[in-house]
Amino acid sequence: MGQSHWVRLFLIMNKIRKRELRQEWKGKGLCIDCGKPAFPGAVRCANCLYRLRISNRAYKRRNRESYMMKDRERRARWIQEGRCGRCGAPLIENETNYCLACLAGRHQPVIKGVA
Ligand SMILES: [Zn+2]
Ligand SMILES: [Zn+2]
Repeated sequence: MGQSHWVRLFLIMNKIRKRELRQEWKGKGLCIDCGKPAFPGAVRCANCLYRLRISNRAYKRRNRESYMMKDRERRARWIQEGRCGRCGAPLIENETNYCLACLAGRHQPVIKGVA
C-alpha cells in the first residue's frame, strides 16, 4: 500500500534526523539522548547514564535468562519428539538430534506451525 510506504519513509527520515541531532549534540559535548550538558568523558549526561545503566542491566539479564531457558527447553523438546534440535524439522533416517541440513551448516529457519 502507498500509505505504508510513506510511513516507512517518514520513520527513516526521522531516524536520520535523530542521528544528525545526536551527532550535533555529541560534537557540542551535550548528552546524545536529551541534549543536556554531558557528563565529563561521556556522551550522555549523568541522568541518562544512570538510567541507561539500570535499564541495560535489567533488560540484558531478563532477556538472556528467558531466552536461554526457552531455547534450551525448545531444543530438548524437539530432540525428544524426533525433530532437529536446531531448526525443528522432523528427522528422517540417518539423522540423530540434528537434521542433515543443519549438520551441513546450512541455516534453516524454524518451520512455521511446527513449534
Ligand atoms: Zn541526558
Ligand atoms: Zn535442522
